[in-house]
Amino acid sequence: MSQVKIGVIGGSGLYEMEGLKVLEEKWVETPFGKPSDAIIIGELDGKTVAFLPRHGRGHIYTPSEINFRANIYAMKLLGVERILSVSAVGSMKENIAPGHIVIVNQFVDRTRQRVSTFFGEGIVAHVSFADPVCPHLFDIAYDASKKVGVTVHKGGTYVCIEGPMFSSRAESKIFRSWGVDVIGMTNLQEAKLAREAEICYITIALSTDYDCWHESEEAVDVSMVIKIMQKNIATAQGIIKESVKGIKEKRDCACGEALKYAIMTDKTKISAAAKKRLEPIIGKYF
Ligand SMILES: [Zn+2]
Repeated sequence: MSQVKIGVIGGSGLYEMEGLKVLEEKWVETPFGKPSDAIIIGELDGKTVAFLPRHGRGHIYTPSEINFRANIYAMKLLGVERILSVSAVGSMKENIAPGHIVIVNQFVDRTRQRVSTFFGEGIVAHVSFADPVCPHLFDIAYDASKKVGVTVHKGGTYVCIEGPMFSSRAESKIFRSWGVDVIGMTNLQEAKLAREAEICYITIALSTDYDCWHESEEAVDVSMVIKIMQKNIATAQGIIKESVKGIKEKRDCACGEALKYAIMTDKTKISAAAKKRLEPIIGKYF
């Protein structure tokens, strides 16, 4: 399989990547089933990029239905070392207006029915998630956003809810009291799985609305969100392009060694099935 080093995962509204010179579309089979869609491999600014719309083209999967493990595993199989993830979010802070960008660097998990790990069933690993995003991609995405000329917030906490409904006002106010910056439904699992797969990961969050905590705000309405989302898409594509430009060939962050001391299971006790299932991820340690 050809090696692609950069992956882009598009969220609501971002189902295709403008400016991407498509080379091929590939359905990647994984031990965890099928990814959300065929992965589009193409050239962006002279670099090969793998693009995947996380909800599938046509937006057919709810956040709870997305096969996050298959999505990240498929990227790993292609050779991806960095993932730029784009996500529509609600703003939980007055100063993050609709249309603003937040380069996320922390997560709070409020999901309830999702598998967030590649481990289990014959192998145990405890991976550090203290700093959930790649520090280098963080800088790259921030600089790229500035170049595009959009208002960008450097750092922010993303609370990930199960969805597909938006929050109640009571929930929204509780999340605000926790000090979170944005609210979304998808990026937490991707960040965890990318870390386990030793892939650098960053979330570029596009603020579409003030969620329902805001006093002047009507309750979140999907048509309103889509309207602002569409405006945000051009911005997001610009940021992706600039980010891809800014990515250097060699990685010198710690993301590529996240599993080095994390596998707890005695090597002689790891099941053959687990070894086989996770070979692309753990193979280098055996
Ligand atoms: Zn990294």
